[in-house]
Amino acid sequence: MNAEIISVGTELLLGNIVNTNARDLSVMLSELGINVYWHSVVGDNPERLTETLRTAKARADIIITTGGLGPTCDDLTKQTVARAFGLELYFDERAEREIEDFFRRGSLIMTENNRQQAYLPVGCTPFYNTCGTAPGCAFFAQGTHVLILPGPPKECLAMMRCGGLDYLRSLSGEQIYSRNIHLFGLGESYVESLLRERMNTLENPTLAPYAREVEVRLRVTAKASSREAAEEMMAPVIDEVCRKLGDCVYGVDTDTLENTVLGLLSAQGKTVSAAESCTGGLIAKRVTDLPGASSVFLGGVTVYTNEAKRLLLGVDADTLREKSAVSREVAVQLAEKVRGKLGSDFGLGVTGVAGPDSDGIHAVGTVFVSLADGERTYVRELRLSPQYDRGKIRNLAASHALDMLRRRLTNLPVVK
Ligand code: ATP
Ligand code: MG
Repeated sequence: MNAEIISVGTELLLGNIVNTNARDLSVMLSELGINVYWHSVVGDNPERLTETLRTAKARADIIITTGGLGPTCDDLTKQTVARAFGLELYFDERAEREIEDFFRRGSLIMTENNRQQAYLPVGCTPFYNTCGTAPGCAFFAQGTHVLILPGPPKECLAMMRCGGLDYLRSLSGEQIYSRNIHLFGLGESYVESLLRERMNTLENPTLAPYAREVEVRLRVTAKASSREAAEEMMAPVIDEVCRKLGDCVYGVDTDTLENTVLGLLSAQGKTVSAAESCTGGLIAKRVTDLPGASSVFLGGVTVYTNEAKRLLLGVDADTLREKSAVSREVAVQLAEKVRGKLGSDFGLGVTGVAGPDSDGIHAVGTVFVSLADGERTYVRELRLSPQYDRGKIRNLAASHALDMLRRRLTNLPVVK
């Protein structure tokens, strides 16, 4: 089954409002396993709407319209759709009662044109409106299933949830299930080139990458009649992808890198602390956003200036002067000193230039990330793109620190 969503409204074409209905309806349809192949937008114009319906009828099994069900003269969707499918309208008495109730509840005055909203195509399944006046409906005619929904997002989505989804569920026995593979340390285009051939040959399940701000995820999606059947279909693909991408995969259906790290630390009964310069406490924030952080995260310091590095952690003044704050040597001291002061198993350190201005010595995006474990101190030297904005550079730096710890905790090479 494939579907087309037709959003009706001149406001959409003028750019006055964003077509959020199409987006939200698409998400619901994909969860049902219905492929949405087209989104169309047309103004409040019966001729052009008729033409759009004709095109949609020829190519889609399901048409969903939103908008144009109001009481005013530019609201023409129902009449136009009914005519395009050769259906008469009838007066739905329950719809009338519901409209009257709506006005009574709000102590509002009902006008004659509100009563006109109670007309619906003959033979349809009516959807009564729980948060507005206009009823919607679904019908099958001329080989096509048609759903007519109101424009205001609250009404449109509530009606889809209450009546629309049940109607559609009865048409298709399959649903879509998906799982997400999370990776850090590989770019989207590299991941895609590695998996392109496989992605092209897979049909069910499918495999598709999507990039988050600082990492890449791969979504495996299966269409099946039950979750168990879908899991069985997805498992070999997940195994295959994990094998191909190796230790850059940090989890499947896990939330975030910090989640994975927190799980590893708790399982091993280990603790961590952090000394952050350019990330300004971002590692501490990301870890402490998670419940349960207190048993593994002992604390962190934001040591922004040289003074702070010296006074709060005892970073060596000569090193700061000779090597500058953004250096491998200072990164090493940050991790070792915070670990020593707080008595944690691991210490993380970050120092770098997040931009947009350079520090006069290093290019924007130069970051040193360190991990001390009491025996060894590892350092990753990052040359992040100076095109990245400050937020992204900081986020990436924090992710690298967490990734180093993840690797250390799973006995993988920490620095490649
Ligand atoms: P009304 O009874 O309010 O006239 P209607 O069903 O006739 O409802 P429209 O007149 O097309 O719907 O739109 C009403 C309002 O709903 C718009 O002003 C807009 O705020 C919102 N809206 C309409 N269509 C969409 C859409 N596709 N995406 C998001 N919002 C929409
Ligand atoms: Mg309207």
